[in-house]
Amino acid sequence: MNQWIELEEKHGSGAYGNWPIAIEGGKGPYVWDSNGNRYLDLGAGIGVIGLGHANQDVALAISQQAQTLAHCINGYFANEIRAKFLQRLSQIAPGDLNRIFLTNSGTEAVEAAFKLARKHTGRTKIISMIRAYHGRSMGALSLTWRKDYRAPYTPLIPDIQHLPYGRIEAIEKVIDNKVAAVILEPIQGEGGIIVPPQGYLTQVRKLCDFHNTLFIVDEIQTGMGRTGGWFACDHENVVPDIICSAKMLGGGFPIGAMIMREELSFEKSKHGSTYGGNLMGCRAGLTVIEYMEKNNILEYVRKTGKEILSDLKMLTQNLNKVKEVRGRGFMIGIELNEPVMPYLKELFNNKILALSAGKKIIRLLPPLITPKKELNNAIDKIVEILK
Ligand SMILES: *Cc1c(COP(=O)(O)O)cnc(C)c1O
Repeated sequence: MNQWIELEEKHGSGAYGNWPIAIEGGKGPYVWDSNGNRYLDLGAGIGVIGLGHANQDVALAISQQAQTLAHCINGYFANEIRAKFLQRLSQIAPGDLNRIFLTNSGTEAVEAAFKLARKHTGRTKIISMIRAYHGRSMGALSLTWRKDYRAPYTPLIPDIQHLPYGRIEAIEKVIDNKVAAVILEPIQGEGGIIVPPQGYLTQVRKLCDFHNTLFIVDEIQTGMGRTGGWFACDHENVVPDIICSAKMLGGGFPIGAMIMREELSFEKSKHGSTYGGNLMGCRAGLTVIEYMEKNNILEYVRKTGKEILSDLKMLTQNLNKVKEVRGRGFMIGIELNEPVMPYLKELFNNKILALSAGKKIIRLLPPLITPKKELNNAIDKIVEILK
């Protein structure tokens, strides 16, 4: 066994398993292991590396910032890079969402939204969704659905109800003026790349408006161009009260954001984080937004995403092993009629890295800059192994 795997298994927390290789480096959509094998990374390091591995612009931005000023204390001093990042992020956020609390991760963005929902509404009840994934800290975990994630840590935060996803009647039946917030992913990621019916987000928005309930959209996986819009709720022109972002936001640098409407903003000292909004993260995030605009990444993802989804649907329609292909942009799920692990291993043997979502779904979250030709080759290989 590789020595780095051995060391990780010896000293790691035990929470993570490892595949039989150690990754040494990467470039664009590729990574390579210590034996010099190159892999096409269709998981983008679990939906993080949007602009490719070792993106030159992002790498330069982080290193320049590290050499200028790595950290500027929150609550005391302003800084140009942080100010500009907040401004640019407000500009790409839908509607009037123009206040941002910066975090270091997705779960912290959800945690901030959770606290804000309680404080702003004075209510405690929260509606979440079956198959939802919102992170692992105690608050976010309480909103997450999977029992095996939750069970060892009970009691979690009370007053949270998980309802069937994509069914407006389910919310209609339960929501009232005691509900602080409805939280959902615009396409469920970890839950299985589940795309709700067209118009669902608009209907949830209306229900929330009626009951003065906050609508929190977790765009940690779907946001920053993953589905071909800056945020997935843009496809329905829905403006939530709060958007949570992370994953691709920093181009690989850990940064997250809770983006909210003006009137929701915190009063002084009501929330905080030492590293949240650290300057290397802000500089990376700023560079991600600029890079995406300069290179028309959203348009590429929209167009190419449509093509690969329809190719995949067509090429798998007669395959017994495939139940359904679904998704949007560069977020694609292939649901099988059987466990997915052997197929992920087979793809791995063919130098393609893909993810699972649940037991039976292949999850593809390629870097947004993956060339069409590479995607086509990967699709051919996927179809071949599913025959
Ligand atoms: C990954 C993810 C999270 C958690 O983000 P972390 O950075 O791992 O804390 C929350 N919600 C969704 C939808 C995610 O995909």
